[in-house]
Amino acid sequence: MDNSQKYFKNIQSDFIGLDTQYTRADGKRTKRIYLDSTASTLMMKAAYNAIESFYNHYANTHSLLHFSAKTATQNYQWAHDRILSFVKADADQYACFFTGSGTTAGINRMARVFRDYQPDRDTVLVSLMEHHSNDLPHRKHAGKVVHIPLDIHKGQPGCINMKTLRDELEKNKNRINYISMTGVSNVTVIINPIYDIAELAHKYGALILVDGAQMAAHLPIKMSGHKNPARNIDALVFSGHKTYVPGSPGAVICRKDILSSMEPEEVGGGMVDQVHVSRYTISDKFPDREEAGTPNIPGAIGLAAAIDVLDKIGMDFIYEDETVLITDALEQIKQIEHVIIYGETDSLLCPRAASISFNVRGLDHGLVAAILNDYHNIAVRNECFCAHPYVKEMIIEEIMGSKVSDEVDFDADIKVKAGMVRASFGIYSTPDDVTALVAALKDIVAKRNEYSELYQLDGTGIYRHKTFTTEESDLFNVELFIDNYLKSL
Ligand code: PMP
Repeated sequence: MDNSQKYFKNIQSDFIGLDTQYTRADGKRTKRIYLDSTASTLMMKAAYNAIESFYNHYANTHSLLHFSAKTATQNYQWAHDRILSFVKADADQYACFFTGSGTTAGINRMARVFRDYQPDRDTVLVSLMEHHSNDLPHRKHAGKVVHIPLDIHKGQPGCINMKTLRDELEKNKNRINYISMTGVSNVTVIINPIYDIAELAHKYGALILVDGAQMAAHLPIKMSGHKNPARNIDALVFSGHKTYVPGSPGAVICRKDILSSMEPEEVGGGMVDQVHVSRYTISDKFPDREEAGTPNIPGAIGLAAAIDVLDKIGMDFIYEDETVLITDALEQIKQIEHVIIYGETDSLLCPRAASISFNVRGLDHGLVAAILNDYHNIAVRNECFCAHPYVKEMIIEEIMGSKVSDEVDFDADIKVKAGMVRASFGIYSTPDDVTALVAALKDIVAKRNEYSELYQLDGTGIYRHKTFTTEESDLFNVELFIDNYLKSL
């Protein structure tokens, strides 16, 4: 057994929360099957242990001379370096810095940076499959946003349509500041050709920003070192909480020359060399100049620890393993009558990562997600996954057989509850999880009417079981936890 296999085999089952149990509506107590990794992954035990050990030495990285401050500073610096090497970004040319709330904070920051870097260009291109976090920040900070449509294969959307992208760049030459593209869709997990897109963008003097939220934990990334340097990525952002370390920050990796050309957006302690009452001078040191204030030091160290583990298993290995799992899941779910899978599923036409968005014909997505939880202990996400235009377009086409205006209000105008169910995988997901999901879907399809009778919609649009409620003792309650602790003193 080589190291990849050895590490993978051991790490796969070493996550916090894999043994969590809940009592189901049928009274059985079973282990939760966590299929919501696209929203947030579970905590890698190795990273948790690293953070816990680090807490013995915790100190502010802005303190310099005591033992703990030196340890914190050294490890915090290592975290940046480790992330740069993970995404294959040359440390001489690129800087990594951490941001508050995952990918969203990083994209907001980069939209303002790119706006100021090329102020005479006022247009941003995104695809129609973007998460709102890779759409609204550009609308707010960077100017006009054009949504590029997707390739359509037998009615199902695939990757971004490269011809339209090229035409748009040609048409608006000198106006397009940057392309901001997701590496992997959070709805259909379709993988976009980001290096081809980078080459195209650079040909027209545009930059490329990659939303790596769904990439970092699932596929290898190579920001620099391409034979053709035009294929290098200018900036990439991803979330720690989707990379096996809940509670860790977002990470931004960006070309240093871009960042150095302007004063950082955020100012305060830790990023200045000199401050006088009348003026101040910004540090030219990375990452300091980009990280005003005290950062999330334990979170960043934990994230880098998880990334170190992933890299030592090998991202190619992880991608291949997840591809086997998703291919098997797709094959089995495709056979279930009345289940509709969204997005192109032929990986030869359009590669995919490890998640499936679907609906069961005749049942609301909210009801299916509730039944999966209550009767099968399978945790999934439902609704529009913060990608309204993309989800609505797929749903509408399916229901109406044609496109409708972007202005149509789903609930009010066509009385359709737009949404899907998404089952998503992580490194800890196993063939047994796929078997359980397939069995659950078959059960739901077979007992559609019976299940529907058991639920009613509450005033907020959530399906509630008419008689079953979660047992109090199953729920974690932090106030109670502290009360019990205090009582034990
Ligand atoms: N982009 C994509 C593709 C995502 O999946 C998500 C999270 N669902 C985000 C951006 C936003 O990430 P965060 O919530 O960590 O800011």
